[in-house]
Amino acid sequence: MTHIYDMIVIGGGPAGYAAALYASRAGLDTLVIEKMSVGGQMTLTDIIDNYPGFNEGIDGFTLGMQMQAGAERFGTKTEYDEVISVELTPEIKKVAGAMGGEYFARTIVIATGANPRELGIPGEEKLIGRGLHYCAHCDGRFYKNKTVAVVGGGNSAVSDALYLSHLAEKVYVIHRRDTLRATKIYHEPLMKAENVEFIWDSAVSDYIVDGRIVGAKIKNLKTAEEKELRLDGLFVSIGRKPATELFGELALDEAGYIIADETTKTAIPGVFAVGDVRTKELRQVVTAVSDGAVAAHFAEKFLTIGK
Ligand code: NAP
Repeated sequence: MTHIYDMIVIGGGPAGYAAALYASRAGLDTLVIEKMSVGGQMTLTDIIDNYPGFNEGIDGFTLGMQMQAGAERFGTKTEYDEVISVELTPEIKKVAGAMGGEYFARTIVIATGANPRELGIPGEEKLIGRGLHYCAHCDGRFYKNKTVAVVGGGNSAVSDALYLSHLAEKVYVIHRRDTLRATKIYHEPLMKAENVEFIWDSAVSDYIVDGRIVGAKIKNLKTAEEKELRLDGLFVSIGRKPATELFGELALDEAGYIIADETTKTAIPGVFAVGDVRTKELRQVVTAVSDGAVAAHFAEKFLTIGK
């Protein structure tokens, strides 16, 4: 017999497991489907020090595992499978997995988060792991006493550069403007780090490759002057793109995020979007878990009174 869950959550990051915690604690039969490992983008952060209650900070991997355990304590189940298609409009919604599994539910919570944005230089996909990286906290250890560059000027780029400055001999920060977008708290330690050098108003125009990345061509966007930089590794940290490929039937905003207001309700009844995949102003762990709780509340209402 086909099992029909009250709620399927797609994605096991903080938003997904918060939805699952609130749903299963309210007695909803809840399944989380996670592609690889729980925790989502948090696992790319070594220390999260702005999630309330952890006064020494907590690493993203541990927090992710604890969020999973917290939801499973109330009966949430987790399936490790890659979702390859969804049917959202019928009353009983269907989710298909890459391993041939089919899952059914009355409500769906989309918590698929976002993936790193690429520079878009031809051939870069072949360089991933061969000098080109998107996660300093995962791959930085390969660059002890080496020369690396970080591209970007937001919080992620700046925290990546700081992290790498403790490992690498030299860290360049390549940013397309002459000021950082990152929160002020990050500026001072980075400016003070002796092995960090900023390359302002500049972009990577090409990679220099000899089997792997050995450098990059850097173009000054104001003067059009181009120079070559010798590098052992390049970390791209220019934001994220929401993981919405599966949800073509839902409306997206101009940046590609699923349109859902603070109720997390999408235009399809019984379908909710939470966390970094949803259109919103502030994408943080704390706002992701808030979305999860809100989605569970409205999902429960939908299941009991139909709206
Ligand atoms: P972000 O804040 O959107 O910053 C992206 C950076 O990359 C910006 O400096 C942007 O330049 C640059 N950029 C974008 N596209 C580019 C391109 N094609 N070529 C070169 N540079 C490009 O993204 P994020 O740093 O990944 O952060 C994402 C969210 O997570 C933010 O809300 C952030 O606050 C949050 N976050 C918070 C923390 C924390 O507070 N502990 C840590 C990490 C992330 P411009 O400045 O010119 O636009």
